[in-house]
Amino acid sequence: MKTIIEPFKIKMVEQLRFTTREEREELLQLAHYNPFLLHSDDVLIDLLTDSGTTAMSAKQWSALMDGDEAYAGSRSYYKFEKVVQDITGFKHVIPTHQGRAAERILFSLVGGVGKIIPNNTHFDTTRANIEDSGAAAVDLPDPLGIRPEVIADFKGGMDVDALEALIFQARPANVPLVMLTVTNNTGGGQPVSMRNIREVSRIAHSHGIPFFLDACRFAENAMFIKLREKGYADVPVKKIAQEMFSYADGCTMSTKKDGLVNTGGFLAMNDDALAMKARNVLIVTEGFTTYGGLARRDLEAIAIGLVEVLDESYLAYRLRSVQYLGDALEAQGVPIMRPTGGHAVYLDAKRFAPHIPVSEYPGQSIVCALYEQAGIRSVEVGSVMFGKYDSNGSLLPSPMELVRLAIPRRVYTQSHIDYVAEAVCEVYVDRDHLPGLRIAYEPPVLRHFTSHFERICKPVPALHVVGSNRVAMTNGVR
Ligand SMILES: *Cc1c(COP(=O)(O)O)cnc(C)c1O
Repeated sequence: MKTIIEPFKIKMVEQLRFTTREEREELLQLAHYNPFLLHSDDVLIDLLTDSGTTAMSAKQWSALMDGDEAYAGSRSYYKFEKVVQDITGFKHVIPTHQGRAAERILFSLVGGVGKIIPNNTHFDTTRANIEDSGAAAVDLPDPLGIRPEVIADFKGGMDVDALEALIFQARPANVPLVMLTVTNNTGGGQPVSMRNIREVSRIAHSHGIPFFLDACRFAENAMFIKLREKGYADVPVKKIAQEMFSYADGCTMSTKKDGLVNTGGFLAMNDDALAMKARNVLIVTEGFTTYGGLARRDLEAIAIGLVEVLDESYLAYRLRSVQYLGDALEAQGVPIMRPTGGHAVYLDAKRFAPHIPVSEYPGQSIVCALYEQAGIRSVEVGSVMFGKYDSNGSLLPSPMELVRLAIPRRVYTQSHIDYVAEAVCEVYVDRDHLPGLRIAYEPPVLRHFTSHFERICKPVPALHVVGSNRVAMTNGVR
């Protein structure tokens, strides 16, 4: 059988709310052309993020009822700890309310002025927590990882020569930790090979530096290793995950991703002294060591999610369903980042809308058009998110202008994804009419979340707007 099906059936459904194109045009204007400012009730298919948007299983929902809400020593904590230890092999497991809380605790202990933390590509909260401690966050991506058009199996890894050079230059004493993010989220959800994990670990350890994984998407990464790396085709994915963690001394994780739950995270490690310090910070900032800012029932759901995520039929479906959207878009000539990663498809806005200069945010223009066209919410990952200004106030653009279509886990069916592909293709056909945008208001940091935009010119209606296709689209009933 060639068809890979959803390895689950649906027990509970959540109603979608349809809007008309006219309503969406008005709603988007009211949201200042920034879909972060839309109400989710006005969104039909929400591809803003795969974080915390998972559909939990019947087993997870029933486990919530079994949560032991004791403040200290909860039975639910010990279940959670056992599962995390089984997968990661780490001695100390410290629950946190989400991934960035684990980062905050870790870097408040090992960061600080003069310290340098290398990573393949730091996620934005990781970078923010490192910089907040006074340390410097340095990205050392594989050179292939920043070329969207190049097809390669493992574009998410770290440039190991650059790592050697950086440690040599900075001196090992100033590098408290080497980190590797699996999969490389900011770099397009591209996987990291076992070979690269092993190499980075070897280099770090040869200088006496601890090595940590940012393990948010460890299971998707392990499945890519099974499918693509020589020698792993017949190894169970759980064993692959265990091997990945075996090279590391600890990890941070947001369970909102491969934990298959809606909130939570953890910090895990082998170092007894560091763990004791981390637990002391945890008690001050998150909560007691056996709940870390979570309801104990959440720990029950995570314990089950971490087992379910390693189910190979789930992972085959997961990677295939992301690739399915990428393939559908490529078949229509839509430029995307290749190959598709584990959790999202990225449109290459520079090639999609070459008539819009980067200073007029082509990615944001596509994001807006997708919402108006079909009620789909996506996010710009380009100069809106990463752009800075020089001393003259001119934009220093991001190296890439992307639009991310992140796929929530176990939420949308194949027909939802077909609908998304159709909508993207329709926007692509009309791409010459996409207007540029200017920023009308922006906050001093993380501007993509709350900026206001204005369209630079009114979009010219395309010729086929009056066709029956568009009428069907408007009602969202395809
Ligand atoms: C989401 C994410 C984080 C932060 O986790 P939160 O739960 O959002 O705080 C850190 N690293 C990576 C790679 C992520 O994707």
